[in-house]
Amino acid sequence: MDVADIPGVPDWFQGYLESEGIDSLYPPQAEAVDRGVTEGANLVAAIPTASGKTLVSTLAMLSSIADDGGGKALYIVPLRALATEKHEEFAAFEEYGLDVGVSTGNYESDGGWLAGKDIIVATSEKVDSLVRNDAPWLEDLSCVVADEVHLVDDSHRGPTLEVTLAKLQSLNPDLQTVALSATIGNADELAAWLDADLVDSTWRPIELQKGVHFGDALHLEDGSQSRVPVRGNEDQPAAIIRDTLEEDGSTLVFVNSRRNAESAARRLGSTTEPFCSPEESDQLAEIAEEIREVSDTETSDDLAAAVEQGAAFHHAGLARDHRSLVEEAFRNRLVKVVCATPTLAAGVNTPSRRVVVRDWRRYDGTAGGMQPLSVLEVHQMMGRAGRPGRDPYGEAVLVAKSHDELDELFERYVWADPEPVESKLAAEPALRTHILATVASGFANSRSGLLDFLESTLYAQQTAERGRLETVVDDVIDYLDVNGFLDREGSEITASNLGHTVSRLYLDPMSAAEILHGLEDAEEPTALGLYHLVSRTPDMYELYLRSGDEEEYTMLAYEREEELLGSTPSEFEEGFEDWLSALKTARLLEDWASEEEEDEITERYGIGPGDIRSKVDTAQWLLGAAESLATERDLGLGPDIREARTRVEHGVRAELVDLAGVRGVGRKRARRLFDAGIETRADLREADKSRVLAALRGREKTAENILENAGHRDPSMESVEPDADVTVDDEADEPATANDQSNLGDF
Ligand code: ADP
Repeated sequence: MDVADIPGVPDWFQGYLESEGIDSLYPPQAEAVDRGVTEGANLVAAIPTASGKTLVSTLAMLSSIADDGGGKALYIVPLRALATEKHEEFAAFEEYGLDVGVSTGNYESDGGWLAGKDIIVATSEKVDSLVRNDAPWLEDLSCVVADEVHLVDDSHRGPTLEVTLAKLQSLNPDLQTVALSATIGNADELAAWLDADLVDSTWRPIELQKGVHFGDALHLEDGSQSRVPVRGNEDQPAAIIRDTLEEDGSTLVFVNSRRNAESAARRLGSTTEPFCSPEESDQLAEIAEEIREVSDTETSDDLAAAVEQGAAFHHAGLARDHRSLVEEAFRNRLVKVVCATPTLAAGVNTPSRRVVVRDWRRYDGTAGGMQPLSVLEVHQMMGRAGRPGRDPYGEAVLVAKSHDELDELFERYVWADPEPVESKLAAEPALRTHILATVASGFANSRSGLLDFLESTLYAQQTAERGRLETVVDDVIDYLDVNGFLDREGSEITASNLGHTVSRLYLDPMSAAEILHGLEDAEEPTALGLYHLVSRTPDMYELYLRSGDEEEYTMLAYEREEELLGSTPSEFEEGFEDWLSALKTARLLEDWASEEEEDEITERYGIGPGDIRSKVDTAQWLLGAAESLATERDLGLGPDIREARTRVEHGVRAELVDLAGVRGVGRKRARRLFDAGIETRADLREADKSRVLAALRGREKTAENILENAGHRDPSMESVEPDADVTVDDEADEPATANDQSNLGDF
């Protein structure tokens, strides 16, 4: 279908598409138009990675906005990293008069400012919280898009997406729902659930050959074999990458952990380096320099060192600026290989000639060992192979170490169909949270009303056994009632004040119960005590205990017993290990709030800089929630909790809290200013400028900004000389890491 023939979209859209080099629709896109996607029809589009799903959603959004001029579209993404990416993509429509917004973080607001936007990009958690906070503009939505809807299968995030879609449809029966999915076994069930038409296609813009490398040969699914010998001290991925480079192609390698991504990139540098021209090496050195400037951590140095050789790693522990530098250098073919955890497969658009899926098993804590990846995940990674317009075809290969493994991988992944997607809503933690929210925001006010609402979920669609759902729902209602979140009168169920607060705060009710329990008998809680309290809620991701940790943290628990809130489980009780791992998280937060160096923390706890940020973000949110709960219960602990929260927010000791709150200051500069005798925001406002300039190591621009933010009458540094009496340490300057890193839980 020619782009001129698309009905229902605004006039400017054809020109826009042509400027993007798109003059006709891909067959699945044309099919979506035939099924009425530009005329308000609900649609599930199950099409392979990189086959143009975004355009399908754009067609729906733009036609729905254009329709009566008053439409509004919401685009739901699974990860924050993708929210930014999609926002940047849709921001191109601003030129044509549309207003595009992105909403992430801060779960407590109703996002009033979003009311004026035409297109809003948000994560499913954010949308869920907007529903709970009664964002009035949700009723004006005319179109909602769910990206990666197959993730309803994810036991952690899936239920939120599932319930949110059901709620949006119930708020607005005329809403157009468009769900984008990878190719899956049961797209028809998703379509039936969403009352949608289905485009189910395996069409790809570029041919994909899957295969397995074993010995010295690449075995492809069409039965062909080609020689890809492993030389000298190469491993199989290195041999495949060299072979690709000999044809001037780049490779994406998927591995199963961040650590493996880093070590693989380090090793593969020796494979890529000989293929970098002198000009490329110069450009790579510049990019490496930019990478080092993002943060002063070991991860940053490791990444820069790999990039200098033409290799890189990519995972959610990286700062956002790191990620975008890597992606851009890979798209520009300067970086020849990227070793990634599957975050990248989830949608960041970085096609490459070949994809190597090196690890097909991953450590799974709940299963207690290595577990095979799903066919769906492996196929999504494989789908990144082949750059339309550049390569004749893409190749995606697994790596076998034995003949048996070669056979197994063909059976398990190359010839296999992706598994069907299954709702995970019936799991208790999910229901606990969503049942409270459903009652609190008025979607149901009785047991039967709740069951009716749940009927509109995929879970109900997929299960014939209504009995099981009823049993779990009854257990959850009891739990919520006993803990004071719900009130029951006859058949009527309402949320208590506490229940409303918890739902608005976006807390798992069990987290709220744990926090309240810990705060009840607390007097003058310490920062460590509070960090430990919030770290042991189900809303905080756990740090794993490594060997030796158990002993270390048991000792710490004894040493600092007085500070720990609530009851301490005995060493022999179930749950003791979780309690200790929360102590490990708490100490990480305490280290951060005691001005320990970022790279020392990452080393001590075996994590990346992005992980510090995500723990800090979560702690900040949970401590804010703890403060609201303490106020609700009149516990009078507000100031203690607030101090612990601000300390962790800025990564400073108590005496710097005031200074670090000035925009542009941050933890290191606050310490230097403090040491130079400028101890508060008020001091800064009145400060002698030459002292400020000296404390900021002569950086005039920085000093001016900071003085301006502090409200200084005359921030100009013109003809100001740094005060020679002020001595400062000579460490690297403040890295710009605040608020620019990944979301918790991004793999
Ligand atoms: P998906 O979301 O399915 O993984 P994308 O929507 O990101 O894939 O599309 C992959 C690439 O294909 C993008 O670079 C996009 O611009 C391009 N593309 C999409 N539709 C067309 C089309 N009809 N013709 C040419 N290129 C297209």
